[in-house]
Amino acid sequence: MEIKKMYIGGEWLSSDKVLDVINPADGKVFAQVYESSVEDTRKAIAAAKKSFYETREWRDMDSQERGDIILKIADKIEEYADEFARLDTLDNGKPLREAEGDISDGIHTFRYYASLIKAPHGGAYDVNKGFGEMHSYTVHEPVGVCAQITPWNYPFLMSVWKLAPALAAGNSVVFKPSPKAPLSTIRLFEVFEEVGIPAGAANLVIGDAEVGTEMAQNKDVDMITFTGSTRVGSHLMRCASGNIKKIGLELGGKSPNVIFADCDLDGSVEWAMVGIFFNQGEVCSAGSRIIIEKSIKDEFVKRLAKRANAMTIGNGLDNPDIGPLIDETQMNRVLDYIKSGIDEGATLVCGGTRYTENGCENGYFVRPTIFDNCTSDMKIVREEIFGPVVTVQTFETEEEAVAMANDTDYGLAGACFTSDITRAMRVIKEIRAGITWINCYNPTFNEAPWGGYKMSGIGRELGVHGLEEYQEIKQININLTPGVLGWYEN
Ligand code: NAD
Repeated sequence: MEIKKMYIGGEWLSSDKVLDVINPADGKVFAQVYESSVEDTRKAIAAAKKSFYETREWRDMDSQERGDIILKIADKIEEYADEFARLDTLDNGKPLREAEGDISDGIHTFRYYASLIKAPHGGAYDVNKGFGEMHSYTVHEPVGVCAQITPWNYPFLMSVWKLAPALAAGNSVVFKPSPKAPLSTIRLFEVFEEVGIPAGAANLVIGDAEVGTEMAQNKDVDMITFTGSTRVGSHLMRCASGNIKKIGLELGGKSPNVIFADCDLDGSVEWAMVGIFFNQGEVCSAGSRIIIEKSIKDEFVKRLAKRANAMTIGNGLDNPDIGPLIDETQMNRVLDYIKSGIDEGATLVCGGTRYTENGCENGYFVRPTIFDNCTSDMKIVREEIFGPVVTVQTFETEEEAVAMANDTDYGLAGACFTSDITRAMRVIKEIRAGITWINCYNPTFNEAPWGGYKMSGIGRELGVHGLEEYQEIKQININLTPGVLGWYEN
């Protein structure tokens, strides 16, 4: 088995430690990667620093040429799309058609930023004449050395959401995917090499907490961006404080899906399924708390359970509705949450167990699970489960629904279902979250900013904001009347 390498300063490097990559559908090792040490991480940071501050090839390239190279990356991913999708399904377990959707989104993310970098930016300001006639304007410049860390739930797409804007802006990057699902990112770096990204502008390290911590605390790193759990995000924020790094955090969620009695019932059932069972529920924005008007709750839960029970479960390569969870630890974590829900008195409507039928006995499958009669104090309502488990709570008034929706430390996403558009807009305005939907759940667009309120993070990815995160804004003031100011008497 070929052992995959890290990519530092334009070279593929090995180390003396090898990590196994496991297919969660059958629990078997199907690939291996060299693990980076803290020393390797420092080497990668030094390579990025040299690329940004000394050789400057990527940073100084004009935006048209840089944009053209980024377009070539998109074309190459398109050419290898089947291979990329298969890697994500093998690594992560997700159904192949969902992986194919991720690859398609990633291609368009690169194309979007290749074109956005050439769009007008900065501004001109009409300023006072206290110091004479001035022309004041701003330019956007790359931040410098950007360290980037991603989770395993959307291995390819989370990498692209960070790499595309950071590279388009002219930064040099050090990137670390989750060691649980690194393969599509390694393949992406092969593409970077193929299209001619200059050595040192894009570096790849593979590892876990030690490597990530070094990336966050190393003083030669100008910015750290992280997607992952709130617990690790909080740790990295502390590490980053040493040199006051710029920071971007995309963290966890426990998002409310608020459903009123006047909704299209079948439509809201289907969107609720997309909200919680897409990608096995391993979605940061998952609609994991259904908050529904009491009068329709029983009928809604009956229909939701009927459809959840009918979902196909299996190996992602066979395109079931639900694939395995990422690993045994995550499966046991989800099963522990299910046990805590039962212990705390929630009503288990369906699912609730590991799935081991039809060739799934060695994989990490959990049946789609619904808990009814939940209350806000239950652990399953308060904590992010990150699996196919949804809780149901009821309300009688709009005010109660909004209060319940906002009764969480998180603020990533939320939705509202109703045929009363005025109420929908009123409720969405009140929900304290960065990504919201009316009469749908989960559609995500490259053009629109993605990120959370409260403990769901800092900053935004995607859209114009996603590019600006990787830029510094410089103010430039030009004196239009040079000469003696006459401010001092002598
Ligand atoms: P995680 O926080 O355990 O790990 C994320 C990354 O951080 C991985 O690359 C991991 O190797 C690294 N890491 C782990 N411990 C570290 C440490 N102590 N120091 C430095 N780096 C460390 O998260 P996960 O289990 O990989 O992913 C699931 C989490 O990601 C969920 O909480 C989910 O909500 C979140 N997520 C958020 C978004 C978003 O856009 N807001 C998107 C996807 C996933």
